[in-house]
Amino acid sequence: MHFQRLRLAGFKSFVDPAEVQIEPGLTGIVGPNGCGKSNVLESLRWVMGANSAKAMRGQGMEDVIFAGAAGRPPRNHAEVILTVDNSQHRAPQPFTDQDVLEVSRKIERGRGSTYRINGKEVRARDVQLLFADASTGANSPALVRQGQISELIAAKPQNRRRILEEAGGVAGLHTRRHEAELRLKAAETNLDRLDDIGKELE
Ligand code: ATP
Repeated sequence: MHFQRLRLAGFKSFVDPAEVQIEPGLTGIVGPNGCGKSNVLESLRWVMGANSAKAMRGQGMEDVIFAGAAGRPPRNHAEVILTVDNSQHRAPQPFTDQDVLEVSRKIERGRGSTYRINGKEVRARDVQLLFADASTGANSPALVRQGQISELIAAKPQNRRRILEEAGGVAGLHTRRHEAELRLKAAETNLDRLDDIGKELE
């Protein structure tokens, strides 16, 4: 599922409507300090359903709305629209047949967020699942924030391995292995207990 275009309006420092075309392949965002690079990445996480204020570097969810600047009054709403190529028809029903998906999220002061896919109002969960199924989403290792590469280089080998395993999609296998080991241990304890009872009965 390829991201084609990202549009922002009233989101953080992007008070005026802004548009980013996303070409196939690796996309990097460069610019001077404070120009809004991280805000662009955050808008992408946000439209995919990110719901923690901390992940948005704010105190509350409404902090994503333009808060005003010299000569510009604050806004009352923010909107981000992500255009996604669905020509392989991998999106779940009822959107499977649509070649292009426009996923939007809008927040209004005091009224919370509304999500839409191709104009149809949906739940946050629907948007989160759409991207989770496409192996992306707000926590995807495909979104590399500023400083993350140098963190990876400077990390201790064990931590670096954890990050690489997450990116490789094997982190979930470790959790399942741990669960299987716990079940195995419980079964062994039961067998021992059965053994004891058997001996008592002999
Ligand atoms: P750096 O390279 O220094 O990390 P950056 O390019 O990643 O910077 P961002 O952190 O994306 O920049 O943007 C920071 C700017 O966004 C700051 O000027 C900050 O005041 C502005 N900003 C953040 N939230 C809001 C908001 N709700 N309303 C208005 N401006 C905001």
